Amino acid sequence: NQELLTVKNLKKYYPITGGVLGKEVGQVKAVDDVTFSIRRGETFGLVGESGSGKSTTGRSLLRLIEPTSGEVWFDGKQVTSLKKDELRPLRRDMQIVFQDPFASLNPRHTVAKILEEPLQVHNIGTPAERRKKVEQMLEIVGLNSYHAQRYPHQFSGGQRQRIGIARALMLNPKLIVADEPVSALDVSIQSQVLNLMQDLQRDFGLTYLFIAHDLSVVRHISDRVGVMYLGRLVELAPSEQLYEKPLHPYTQALLSAVPDPDPDNRRERIILQGELPSPANPPSGCTFHTRCPHAMDICRTVRPEFRDIGGDHFTACHLYNE
Ligand code: SF4
Ligand code: MG
Repeated sequence: NQELLTVKNLKKYYPITGGVLGKEVGQVKAVDDVTFSIRRGETFGLVGESGSGKSTTGRSLLRLIEPTSGEVWFDGKQVTSLKKDELRPLRRDMQIVFQDPFASLNPRHTVAKILEEPLQVHNIGTPAERRKKVEQMLEIVGLNSYHAQRYPHQFSGGQRQRIGIARALMLNPKLIVADEPVSALDVSIQSQVLNLMQDLQRDFGLTYLFIAHDLSVVRHISDRVGVMYLGRLVELAPSEQLYEKPLHPYTQALLSAVPDPDPDNRRERIILQGELPSPANPPSGCTFHTRCPHAMDICRTVRPEFRDIGGDHFTACHLYNE
């Protein structure tokens, strides 16, 4: 089976309550009917503005957030039908790296303790074996064994992200969900961490879901890229194809804002009208119609299906209906 992870019709709705009785007055459709799969060994880039549902999607896959409906399949098992206490073996195979390693690393624990904890939780190895594995892992992510007795605040942002990555690797996972792992880092440090992640992918046979708000970050590391807008996937294509021939008007606008060093590739900057609508009150039909330069009558009433346009390229837009 080529696919490691399959997501079918995933939805995550949050109730909005109001009034003195706290009655449910509406819903925020944070993730609204998202379908895609991730192939073994690939990097799948998931891109969108904040509030597009990309983090909620990533966390739902690991059931750090409980989806409202839909299915998640991982390595032949249906994640969404497992009981809470059946999730443990799965947690070994699927790990997450967060945007802000400082917030995700316990400030009162040494690096040794932080890295050893996943092994303890899963009862792996003797204390001596665990310490050895911690030291090896520090070297693998470009730190040193003498860093083991230090605390998170004694490291730079880039080093802390290396620790976050080391922690995610301690259990030899198959899939890593990386939720904007370099967004908080300086540009010069970003490429170091991205290079490290690519080396680790090769050496450990990892599969990545790489979440970012910026198309330029995922461009070179992703095999395929999905673009989200207001909780929905609007386009999905092999990376090169998406960057060279974006089909969805939203992707076209996002890409027009990314500087391209090749003067032959200069795109005209597309400025989107209006603000990002509230996910609590999304527009009807195609949710992008309020900002789309190509909006037609049908766009205001009929939701475009997410369709295969050919060549592993999918989009949800009425411009491509024939
Ligand atoms: Fe624009 Fe219509 Fe396509 Fe939506 S469906 S992106 S509004 S052309
Ligand atoms: Mg986010």
